[in-house]
Amino acid sequence: MKPFRNEPYNDFNNPKIRRKMEKALAQVEYEFGKEYDLVIGGKRVKCEKKLYSYNPAKKDEVIGIFQKADEQIAEQTMQAALKAFETWRYTPATVRANYLFKIANIMRRRRFELNSWMVLETSKNWLEADADTAEAIDFCDYYGHEVLRYDRGPKLLQLKDERDEQRYIPLGVGIVIPPWNFPLAILTGMTTASFACGNTVILKPSSDSPAIAAKFMEMVEEAKVPVGVVNFMTGSGALAGDYLVRHPKTRFIAFTGSKSVGLHIIEHAAKTVPGQIWIKRVVAEMGGKDLIIVDSEANIDSAVTDARVSAFGFQGQKCSACSRLILDEKIYDKFMKKLIPTVEAITVGPPKDHGNYMGAVINESAYKSMLEYIEIGKSEGKLVCGGKPAEGNGWFIRPTVFTDIGPKTRIFQEEIFGPVLAVTRARNFEHAIELANDSEYGLTGAVYTKNRQKIEKAKNEVFVGNLYINRKCTGAMVAAHPFGGFNMSGTDSKAGGPDYLGLFTQAKAIAEYVAARKTKKPAKKRRG
Ligand code: NAD
Repeated sequence: MKPFRNEPYNDFNNPKIRRKMEKALAQVEYEFGKEYDLVIGGKRVKCEKKLYSYNPAKKDEVIGIFQKADEQIAEQTMQAALKAFETWRYTPATVRANYLFKIANIMRRRRFELNSWMVLETSKNWLEADADTAEAIDFCDYYGHEVLRYDRGPKLLQLKDERDEQRYIPLGVGIVIPPWNFPLAILTGMTTASFACGNTVILKPSSDSPAIAAKFMEMVEEAKVPVGVVNFMTGSGALAGDYLVRHPKTRFIAFTGSKSVGLHIIEHAAKTVPGQIWIKRVVAEMGGKDLIIVDSEANIDSAVTDARVSAFGFQGQKCSACSRLILDEKIYDKFMKKLIPTVEAITVGPPKDHGNYMGAVINESAYKSMLEYIEIGKSEGKLVCGGKPAEGNGWFIRPTVFTDIGPKTRIFQEEIFGPVLAVTRARNFEHAIELANDSEYGLTGAVYTKNRQKIEKAKNEVFVGNLYINRKCTGAMVAAHPFGGFNMSGTDSKAGGPDYLGLFTQAKAIAEYVAARKTKKPAKKRRG
């Protein structure tokens, strides 16, 4: 088997590749408005109530129509997953891993199509969508390799006359609840990690990206993963999601999303209900208020380029997006003079057009919330760029920068999850670290300095789950940058790293006595 390596990105400067993407976009648009069923134990199920997915960059364009599952349907889904678990749990790891490798290959084949669904349903630009698909492929490949490694078990001390081993066995039925912002990668990562370990899954995607989730389900079926191992259930998080979180047969919940929903799930999963014989496990990755520190001894040009990408890539809607820029006061003016024109030059519009760097924000309520934060920002600091909607029939917002922001302001402390950057001044490097750590979150951070001692200080003292030195704070790579945050950013699950699959298994230690038992020898017969 080939060793794992990250999937390369497409180069859209190549006219041939550009044409492939244009063709795929047209094909996907042709499929708009289709209705998608639930998939429960391999059966297609319709509901009375429907859910519509819209293009955020063209408000009235319907991407697809989806079923809205209720509690009764959620119960049927649970029964299907429980049934499938009885056989899937004993399926050898090699067989399970092969399904992941198959899905990775299908994704490679359908790469431009998957990219296009993301461009149109979540308003990602081409590069961001392509990186999302590449990461989804990486998750399948990496967890496929990892499940084989876990299957070999750890090396234990072997006691005399014993065979001592530890096996990783599955947990049971898991509820997978992903967000819309990495609609393919995170959904694929959490789902494949769960079923690779021998669990069965109820996948409840976000109502903002159900079409991409439906495409994932199509690929699971195309790979011929046995029925019931992955069940696809669209519907309201608050209704069907809550029911399943509370269900006595739910063994674990893999959640990625906001702090408020994450804490709600943790609270409800902690309450035992009649018929429940285990402690539910919750893997919850939540929000961030991520930072970049630029020291007085930094390469300013590369820090400017990276700050712009980290803050405004995908409209700032990444959990890792830079929303706090902490500049040493000695370079503050010089840095801002370079940053502002590059931010003002950002193009905003439908990302179907490859010329647009930023697309729309995900939906109306996100749009309204961001505009409210922009008003708050105006009272807390100085607006130096953006601060208003952009033209067009979508949820477009101009990239926005506030300077002279105090460390205790709402703009500096709360997750906005949009293209709003708060800039503050640090007296020196120590003060910059103090400002960085003054947060209830602890997801990603980047530090720019050429000074070796300061690099070491940052490695020791900046309290984030993913720290980057002299590179941007977004774009974690599977297998190289295990991902997950501290504090209210979540349970630090380290997705895409060597510890991740451990969260979806339980370890069983087995000691077998193997020496021959001493048996009494029969007494020798006396002669005579
Ligand atoms: P969200 O919390 O609104 O929704 C996440 C998921 O939870 C969705 O599938 C939603 O339908 C579901 N849900 C909502 N209410 C529920 C309930 N009561 N019970 C069960 N499920 C329920 O988050 P979002 O808007 O989809 O995503 C954005 C958030 O995700 C941001 O806060 C971002 O920082 C975070 N995020 C974190 C990471 C990470 O790795 N830490 C990665 C991506 C996104």
